[in-house]
Amino acid sequence: MPKPLVAANWKMNGSRAFVEEFFGAFDLAGVEVDVAICPPFPYLSLVADCVASVASERLSVGAQNASQEESGAYTGEVSTGMLADFGVQYVIVGHSERRSRYGESSELVAEKFSAVKRAGLVPILCVGETLEEREGGHTLEVVRAQLEAVTDFAGNDAWHGAVVAYEPVWAIGTGKTATPEQAQEVHRFIREKLGEAGAETPLLYGGSVKGANAGALFAQADIDGALVGGASLDAKEFAGICRAA
Ligand code: 13P
Repeated sequence: MPKPLVAANWKMNGSRAFVEEFFGAFDLAGVEVDVAICPPFPYLSLVADCVASVASERLSVGAQNASQEESGAYTGEVSTGMLADFGVQYVIVGHSERRSRYGESSELVAEKFSAVKRAGLVPILCVGETLEEREGGHTLEVVRAQLEAVTDFAGNDAWHGAVVAYEPVWAIGTGKTATPEQAQEVHRFIREKLGEAGAETPLLYGGSVKGANAGALFAQADIDGALVGGASLDAKEFAGICRAA
């Protein structure tokens, strides 16, 4: 059985004061799943300190992106080794905002995925279709290609020690969640596609997850947790989602 995980993707939000307030209000009581907080790079160290002070094995730190390169003349980039040095355990790769706004191809995402694993960290690979692709009936084809780009580069064994997040682009930040059945259909497809190497790979759903819809999503057979954007900025709401998992 995959180990459930709920990850907070703060995106480009927060401040020093926000981090302190968040951890002041975030209560893990009743949370029985692993939880990762993924702040912007400058706050990783502060979040790592806050996580250490919570002293729960369930709670860890994640980053939202990383370079595929190990070191060198790559101005503005951050390597996976540097992230490991700061106590990071998870790294989100291939978020749709990075694919669409920063031109990250599935091939580049596969390189980043491998770099994260080489550093001994856990990649959270995001996949998902746009509204146009869904309406055109191409959802599974798009997700298949995004997954195959990783196995083409990293081999079928890639899914050991990885997490996959299905985030339909049309559900991100729009308030439109996929129905539990729509999400489950894609999750089941992903589970089959990952095969034996992915039997233990947590499959997260992302896209307008809130306390109010989390329970119904988590009740689906192949939904092992969530990648939460907007609602993860509210410590109480986010704790409610974690408790529902
Ligand atoms: P929202 O939860 O704000 O829709 O964002 C989802 C997401 O992109 C998480 O990575």
